[in-house]
Amino acid sequence: MEVALSRVERIRELTEANGVPGSESAVRRLMESYLEPLSSRLIRDRMGSVVGEKIGQENGPKVLVAGHLDEIGMMVTYITDEGFLKFQTLGGWWSQVMLSQRVTIETRKGSLLGVVGSKPPHILSADERKKAVEMKELFIDIGVKDKEEAIEYGVRPGDAIIPWSPFTPLANGKFFCGKALDNRLGCATAVEVMASLQSVHHPNVLYAGASVQEEVGLRGAQTLVQTIRPDVAIALDVGIAGDTPGLTKTDALSRCGEGPILLIYDASMVPNPLFRDFVLDTAEATGVKCQVEYVSGGGTDGGRFQLYGEGVPTVAIGLPTRYIHSHTSIYHQDDFDEGVALVTELVKHLDNNTVETISRH
Ligand SMILES: [Zn+2]
Repeated sequence: MEVALSRVERIRELTEANGVPGSESAVRRLMESYLEPLSSRLIRDRMGSVVGEKIGQENGPKVLVAGHLDEIGMMVTYITDEGFLKFQTLGGWWSQVMLSQRVTIETRKGSLLGVVGSKPPHILSADERKKAVEMKELFIDIGVKDKEEAIEYGVRPGDAIIPWSPFTPLANGKFFCGKALDNRLGCATAVEVMASLQSVHHPNVLYAGASVQEEVGLRGAQTLVQTIRPDVAIALDVGIAGDTPGLTKTDALSRCGEGPILLIYDASMVPNPLFRDFVLDTAEATGVKCQVEYVSGGGTDGGRFQLYGEGVPTVAIGLPTRYIHSHTSIYHQDDFDEGVALVTELVKHLDNNTVETISRH
């Protein structure tokens, strides 16, 4: 008999799969394998986004709940004569968090390990030490003697470059670190919500899954929402935890371990106020933790979902996550569990009347 994967094991599988914008197929296959047994059918668009459909009530509203499959990474642009790889970033990076990190290069002949080269402090000038290296100076060392040898191993422009970082539990067993928490946590949430609703009534038709190419400008969300044509949407993403040294409440409000986040503002969306209140009221009524957060620099797929057709009431819900857009982000498992509980409660309560009321705010 097949044993259901534990939540943490599923998150491990998802974060360790590689999928930068435009090359999400490995992550999509995993999502499809999780969603298929939980859904009446899978729906995939031609950009690569995928959702499972679950009919709770045939004539109920269509509810889209989606994370995004892609993670930040890079793409090989050219190989230097000496065999080093230059790259284009995919998604938002700060050059300082790239230095000396390991990466995987996926070539048509298989995967290669590489290291982002950096200068030892011994040869840095006083001026150089004070500032982050410029992105255009960075390169990847895959351990070959020249360009010809790199080509022999299959490297060519366009190949995906993915952060290398095994998923690892930290000291107290509740915190975990790894790559791609943004946004495999959202992908995993979509799956667990679908799983939680298997034998529970929900007065709607649920579409749960994930988009592609969020990190390069919410591109997959645009076709996904056109494919599903939802009445209401919940974008699942991560938020920035504000509980580490040096951050103040002006930077970020949320704390790890205090529950999922409702985004009251981000650069892509001012959420529908009645939907926002519905989330907070549902959390309160069902005893699920929920924090609020705002992000002035950055958006979510919700920004695209809301603009479909005549408009789709949308909220973005995420988990507080430390050090996002780097090789090693950290989240707290209780937040994940509470996030699944919150989104499950929302789906249980999104009936025709509620969606109608929210839509007429
Ligand atoms: Zn991101």
